[in-house]
Amino acid sequence: MHYDLILRNGICIFPWGQEKVNIGVRNGRILSLSVGGNDEAAQVIDATGLHVLPGLMDCHVHFREPGNALVETIETGTKAAALGGLTTVLDMPNTNPVVADLEMIQWKQQRAVETSWVNFGFYVGATRDNIQDLASLESQKGVCGTKVYAGSSTGSLMVEDDASLEQVMLYGRRRVCYHAEDEYRLQERKKLFCEGMPYENHRLWRDEECAFLGTRRIIALAQKTRRPAHILHTTTQEELEWLVDYKDIATIEVLVNHLTQIAPECYERLQGRAVMNPPIRDQRHYDACWAAVRNGVVDIVSSDHAPHDPTLKAKPWLCCPSGMLGVQTIVPLMLNHVNEGRLSLNRLADVMSANPARIYGMPTKGRIQVGYDADFTLVDMQKKRRITNDWIVSPAGWTPYDQTDVKGWPMVTIVKGQIIMQNDQVLGSPQGELVEFLS
Ligand SMILES: [Zn+2]
Repeated sequence: MHYDLILRNGICIFPWGQEKVNIGVRNGRILSLSVGGNDEAAQVIDATGLHVLPGLMDCHVHFREPGNALVETIETGTKAAALGGLTTVLDMPNTNPVVADLEMIQWKQQRAVETSWVNFGFYVGATRDNIQDLASLESQKGVCGTKVYAGSSTGSLMVEDDASLEQVMLYGRRRVCYHAEDEYRLQERKKLFCEGMPYENHRLWRDEECAFLGTRRIIALAQKTRRPAHILHTTTQEELEWLVDYKDIATIEVLVNHLTQIAPECYERLQGRAVMNPPIRDQRHYDACWAAVRNGVVDIVSSDHAPHDPTLKAKPWLCCPSGMLGVQTIVPLMLNHVNEGRLSLNRLADVMSANPARIYGMPTKGRIQVGYDADFTLVDMQKKRRITNDWIVSPAGWTPYDQTDVKGWPMVTIVKGQIIMQNDQVLGSPQGELVEFLS
């Protein structure tokens, strides 16, 4: 048998466990899991000593295109993804202009096909004006679902009142993903704080109840309409323990940041660079996030990669924008968490590949199986590296994990059978495709 690509001697992560298997790839798909010694291929990777994961995905990134090429574009953000071991990204709609109509969806489709290094999907944003068009907008090629900002002051993309939220749920079938912090409580509490207060106040302003109240409201409406809700970046013990009883209607995301940073230490060390929404919280919530990853309440772990100019992040609190970079560092950080015993490599494949494929409806992704897309992340669990700012390829040029030592590193990224990253080098040209979603 002749293949385009053979991966030999890697330890593959299957749903049932780990097994040393030789994988044969042809035409971008997995053709065989029983490649023999005499079989040949145009390219062979000797994966001895490496683990082969189904291609890891980051379902929550903000690539700022169109709008701010000085901090990120689809080209630079997907290159960062490839270097960081990701094969698929899902990009958020709060660009400038926002992605909330057919014209912008078509613009983004074309831009992604021209410049993306990895498989690319993107969200359509719900606005007050497009609610009745959401069903047709979300079914366009490459659109993974609808993003709703129920709070967080993102201008025209905000839909915060119950009547409008209920309307959003009634139009369409794909996953609706919510930034659930309660806008009314956020505005009310903002009066308690003023400019120039320590950055740590970010978590006091956007307190536990802002998050929990928003999540409770969304779940109540989801139950009423029977439209499943994907709650993005859940952060509190209160939400995660409560959501155990709503897994019939709710799927849950937590962010690598909330699994890695702890307040107040992170605010003292990183200052404005630690500011994001929902905020980094204290040890109690950090422990609850990990418990929820382990007990299955959490479905997906993402980065919420949200780059900003470092000079803006140096501004005083309340003036500095929220968000930090993360698409390039999520895999090394999660591999380090595996090595430190917080989750297994199989659980990592669940929350960064199999579950994203199931929740967003990517029928040929998420596992290593004959007929599936040949998307792989090859990792060296023994490799020790230090994450530094100069490794970051996003034009914004910084990471909150600068000088962080990790054990476990992505060595090869393969997208649809093409090796696009090997040993810290991006190879070839941007040939990423729009992801096909179930309709
Ligand atoms: Zn986000």
